[in-house]
This record gives sequence, C-alpha cells and structure tokens, in this order.
Amino acid sequence: HAKSLGGDRYCFFEPSMNANAQQQMQLLRDLRLALERREFLLLYQPKFDALTMALTGVEALLRWQHPERGMVPPDQFIPAAEKAGLIVPIGEWVLDEACRQMALWRNAVEADWTVAVNLSAVQFAHSGLTQLVAATLARHALEPRYLVLEVTESTAMRDVDSSMTILRQLTEMGVHISIDDFGTGYSSLLYLKRFPASELKIDRGFVRDLARDTEDAAIISAIVALGRTLNLNIVAEGVETSVQQEFLTRLGCTSLQGYLLGRPVGPDLITEPVPQLTSTGEESSPRGLSLC
Ligand code: C2E
Ligand code: MG
Ligand code: MG
Ligand code: MG
Repeated sequence: HAKSLGGDRYCFFEPSMNANAQQQMQLLRDLRLALERREFLLLYQPKFDALTMALTGVEALLRWQHPERGMVPPDQFIPAAEKAGLIVPIGEWVLDEACRQMALWRNAVEADWTVAVNLSAVQFAHSGLTQLVAATLARHALEPRYLVLEVTESTAMRDVDSSMTILRQLTEMGVHISIDDFGTGYSSLLYLKRFPASELKIDRGFVRDLARDTEDAAIISAIVALGRTLNLNIVAEGVETSVQQEFLTRLGCTSLQGYLLGRPVGPDLITEPVPQLTSTGEESSPRGLSLC
C-alpha cells in the first residue's frame, strides 16, 4: 500500500486518509453514546397481502438521529457497529423497542399484523439470542407469533448447524423466521428445506427490472414455486411501480412491500387513516395507512 503510493510508511498519515480514519473513530465514539442519548429510532414499513391488500406486517427499520449529521440510514453505521460489536446492544434495543411498540398496537387496536426485526450475523452468532428474544417478549407480554425475525440468507448459511439450532429454538417458541434478501446468497435447496422459516423475501434486485428482464421474472417464478412447495410466504420487497405490483401478484407472490405501497414511517402513521394519496415523497412526507 504505502509502497504503491511511492512513499515511506508515513504516507499512511497522508492528510485525506488521516481524515478518513478520524471520521471512523468519531463515528464509533458517537455510536457508543447514541444509545445513552436516545438517538436511535425505528420506522416501520408495511407489508401487504398481494391479493387483498390487507396489512400483514410491518418491518422495523433502524434510523440514527445524529445531532449534527441528521437522519443517518443503517447502511452508514451498521457495518461499523458490527465490527465494533456495538450491534449487540443496539440490536437489543431494536428488539425491545419493536416488541414494546407491537404490544402497544395489540392493546390499542388489537393489531393482527406482525412486527419484523432485522438481525445481523453478529447478533445471530452471539450466544443467548434465544433467551434474549424470550425475555423481551415476556417483558412486553407479547405473544411470540407477533414477532418475525428477518435473517439474510448469507447470515443463516454462515454456520449452518448452529443457525439451524437457533432457528429451530426460535420457531419452537412460536416466533416466525423470514429469510431476507433471498436469491443473493447461495443456500442449497437441501438446506432451505431444513430451515424452519415461514417466509422468503425476494431481494429487491430481482424486482427492479422485472418488467423488462425475462430472467428476473423466471427467477421469481422459480422462487415462488419453491416457496409453495415448502409452504412459505413469498414477499417481494422494493415494489416501486404498479407494473411491478401486477407482475409480482400474477407470478404468485403472497405479500408485497415497497415505496409504491408504503414507505418506512413512524409508528403513529401505521394506525392513522390515509391523509392523501400524494407524491412519491420523502420519508418525512409518508403516505399513511388506513386500517378502516
Ligand atoms: P432490508 O432488511 O432488506 O430492508 C429493506 C430496505 O429497502 C430498507 O432500507 C427500506 O427502506 C428499503 N426499501 C423498502 N422499499 C423500497 C423500495 O421500494 N425501493 C427502494 N429503493 N428501497 C426500498 P433501510 O431502512 O435503509 O435498511 C437497509 C438495510 O439495513 C436493511 O435491509 C437491513 O439489512 C439493515 N437494517 C435496517 N434496520 C436494521 C436493524 O434494526 N438491525 C439490523 N441488524 N439491520 C438493519
Ligand atoms: Mg429486512
Ligand atoms: Mg431485504
Ligand atoms: Mg437488503
């Protein structure tokens, strides 16, 4: 590295790199304080039944309200949090907050939808996940069937035997497992058959060019057929156009999620009636949901 830059080892401290490293250190310092300062919040993105358009679930998506940088999306801090191990306490907060909110929805409007929480590979490998989930559900008196844990295909495949054990314990408890970003990893069909999941989420990458790309359509058809055989719900994520919506419904996806149908919003907007069918607006001007 240093040599390729033509200098001696001090070129590691060349100004721009130094700035970058300092930024990373600042990020970690800020992240360590973020929990105490209560800077995290959850937005919820709805999932709908493809045929009836009934709300079937909401997915909790983490945001960091940074004092100077504003709303920071997860892609900009989760990788650093994972490397520093901070994702474990952050993930505990996410699980607790999502269960707390779901229990509120159960009590306030007898919500019959589920709340989904994304798990990182680090949390999944961290011991005591099953006990943490059990304790969190108990703390909020939430029935396990209202909780979905989204695990990516690559996370689940990382250490298959231990993953199977954890997933089985969770499903025996009554929690649902969803395999996120499906199609981007490399699970063998044999493993998939053994995974105690109840849902597959087709990665957004296959949905994007669906209308033009016949290969994507063929892959989605194959995933749907597989899901039917294994008795799984098939959710398509990243639905942005009504053309995609029609395609996916025709191909047999059971649930749909995407900006077309609902952006990630604060919890209050999940139970409020629709104000207007406006805009392709920002997260700050979301379309609410009618439960009437
Ligand atoms: P994911 O679980 O696959 O979530 C879907 C992402 O796609 C979300 O981004 C969502 O806002 C975005 N999305 C939804 N519909 C559309 C659409 O129609 N078009 C486009 N272009 N995007 C759409 P977000 O919230 O930035 O989250 C990104 C990723 O960060 C998530 O991917 C998940 O892997 C991770 N993540 C989010 N919250 C958490 C969390 O609490 N814990 C962990 N470990 N990971 C999280
Ligand atoms: Mg997800
Ligand atoms: Mg996904
Ligand atoms: Mg993703």
